[in-house]
Amino acid sequence: MKIKNIKNWGLGLEYDQQHPLIISGPCSAETREQVLATCQAIQPYGIHILRAGIWKPRTRPNSFEGLGQKALPWLKEASQLTGLPTCVEVANQTHVEQALAAGIDILWLGARTTVNPFAVQEIADALQGVDIPVMVKNPINPDLELWIGAMERLSQAGIDKIAAIHRGFSVYNSPKYRNQPQWEIPIELRRRLPNLEIINDPSHIAGNRVLLYEVAQNALDLGFDGLMIESHIAPANAWSDAAQQVTPAGLQQLLNSLQKRQTSTDNPAYLEQLEQFRKQIDSLDTQTLQLLAERMAIVREIGLSKKENNVAVLQLERWMNVRKIQLDKAAEHQLSANFVEDLINTIHKEALHQQSHIMQQVEEKEVGN
Ligand code: PEP
Ligand code: MN
Repeated sequence: MKIKNIKNWGLGLEYDQQHPLIISGPCSAETREQVLATCQAIQPYGIHILRAGIWKPRTRPNSFEGLGQKALPWLKEASQLTGLPTCVEVANQTHVEQALAAGIDILWLGARTTVNPFAVQEIADALQGVDIPVMVKNPINPDLELWIGAMERLSQAGIDKIAAIHRGFSVYNSPKYRNQPQWEIPIELRRRLPNLEIINDPSHIAGNRVLLYEVAQNALDLGFDGLMIESHIAPANAWSDAAQQVTPAGLQQLLNSLQKRQTSTDNPAYLEQLEQFRKQIDSLDTQTLQLLAERMAIVREIGLSKKENNVAVLQLERWMNVRKIQLDKAAEHQLSANFVEDLINTIHKEALHQQSHIMQQVEEKEVGN
């Protein structure tokens, strides 16, 4: 897909590139005291933007759904006390109008909004002619086009300060994370839009405090530009997302332990060694492909012989064996079982395709004769 109107997307904030852009604050604004106490307590730790949820899209009814408009002035007050800009989630035109009227500096679209093009378009229309940065969380389902599409709708409405937030993807019975990170999706987004600022939200991926560090550091290792981390003056008493919010002290500790990686270095020893390693990798990739080509040549031979003997392409017992032989060796090769499984499935899929194809070719020839 061709992406229009996209130049150097980002929030347009100036910050030291040696450190990640940090957005923090409570999941939800609950009371004036809670908002002010949290924001003032985290301000000294290198925070760039304050956040708080005002309208909360909750999975089930009768959960706390946010205080709405009346909480907006508390954020403005927090901004005045700390000197930091503020951001809130908007999900419809009314939210946009109320947030703009309250002087909120940055808006974001939540995962449950990005998923719905009607809602995104309504917000984009409400933002026509408004100069405000907007962050777009990934949709709840792993759909990169939908994520990019939401950013395009905003771009077409004239918004030119846009950033993406990666908050993971919802799956049924996610074993480890609240939302699966599926890092390959933001990586592909980076490939498609190399100049887009991408912020990671470890809080909504992890769903608990224990995994926050691991997820956040992983994001920085992958070159994410910033982090959105939920913090609360008393997380245990939070009205939403209690398990994943950190205290101001916890936030400070987390930020101190994280390392932002450089995109590169001019250390000649590193560069020389990297070049050598990369040559080896290119050569090994070439050999891997060569081996696969040889394997497929044999597969086609078998295909011909199956055709001659009128035997089906898929041989279930053999296929189960092929999988097992290699899966048993995964650990020995220091490869994850998932990787070996994906690889062998991909190879087998191509093998079936090649055999069916060659059998059909022979058949067509026979019919033609
Ligand atoms: C939030 O940031 O509090 C939130 C509701 O996030 P998400 O849209 O990622 O679920
Ligand atoms: Mn939350």
